[in-house]
Amino acid sequence: MEKFYKGVYIHTPFCLQKCLYCDFPSYANYGAEVQHSYIDALCKELANVNKLEQTFFAESGLTNPLTIAENATIYFGGGTPTILDIAAITKVVEVLKANNIWQNPAEATIEANPGTVDLDKLKKLRELGFDRISFGVQSLQDNELKALGRIHTAAEALEAIKLAKQAGFERINADLMYGIIGQTKESFAKTLKAILEENLEHLSVYGLIVEEGTPFYDMLERDALALPEENETLEMYELTQRLLPEYGYNRYEISNYAKPGGESRHNLVYWRYLPYLAFGAGACSFNGAARKTNSLDVTEYITSPLETAILEKLSLDIQKEEYIFMGLRAAEGIDLLDAKKRYNLDVEKEYKEELEDFLKEEYLVIKHGRMALTEKGMRFGNQIFEKFIKI
Ligand code: SF4
Repeated sequence: MEKFYKGVYIHTPFCLQKCLYCDFPSYANYGAEVQHSYIDALCKELANVNKLEQTFFAESGLTNPLTIAENATIYFGGGTPTILDIAAITKVVEVLKANNIWQNPAEATIEANPGTVDLDKLKKLRELGFDRISFGVQSLQDNELKALGRIHTAAEALEAIKLAKQAGFERINADLMYGIIGQTKESFAKTLKAILEENLEHLSVYGLIVEEGTPFYDMLERDALALPEENETLEMYELTQRLLPEYGYNRYEISNYAKPGGESRHNLVYWRYLPYLAFGAGACSFNGAARKTNSLDVTEYITSPLETAILEKLSLDIQKEEYIFMGLRAAEGIDLLDAKKRYNLDVEKEYKEELEDFLKEEYLVIKHGRMALTEKGMRFGNQIFEKFIKI
């Protein structure tokens, strides 16, 4: 059993405007007053980390509490953390440091929306110790950005990247999307080439998914969402696979690409199924045996930030499944010896039937003591994962 939390996630549930495809826990209807109360609540939760962790481990049935690793990664996500003014972000960072949650992190990332940063703010974020910034760029075509309901233009996204470099960020990610309304293979190629010119260390390239509860979902139901044809979207996917390696990016997870050494260390914590702590409304912590999720309701969280969490104990079967599911997302796959040590799980024996076809069809490969998806398998990730879920 792991003794350390390897990552720390801080959630900001606010955005300037809700994107039409977004089902993340983020809201556009709260003003500065609520945001300040939220920061106070968040700081209260952080200052009580030891007490909260004691309850978490005791209720999970673990015998020993976990401690936060000295080099635990820090990740400010959202929502849009950079919607907060620098004084609010500074306050949170100071509380993290004062409570030994932020010690000597392997990396400290902040997500940013291009419409919410300027050079001064970016410089201050660097001074606070953030060494990695992740921009939601999505597209570099204005008509596509508009169709997604993004607040920024292509020029503003490129400007934000330029300013981040100027402010001293060497570790920059851009999120991109394919399968957008109005997008063609040619327009996607233009976006890809323009972002590749930026020579960033990391790119996340996702296919648009229309999630239930979003405006896009309603439009789809009304037959009013003109998405690109499936074969065109597939061509965009294939272009990504062709072009990114040419520019020195390794695909190290289904949708994530990095220059050597530029992988997101924080996300690797999730894919390696290691314990992490999370703070803020809707934030979900994991200690290896249970998950603890704070209320999604911002007002409820502000009123009682220490009392809204719901605990879910994870049976051994669920842990094994999640371990496989998460591990297979990453190109490094699963260490079969580690599976044996952690869960007494003999993957090859337990999933003999499922594996036979996948190995024969070359969706999966087992070599050097690891089991991983092949390039072909990554295309059909979800269908493959389903076969490993028995419960
Ligand atoms: S900026 Fe990100 S979190 Fe906010 S609404 Fe858009 S996609 Fe969702």
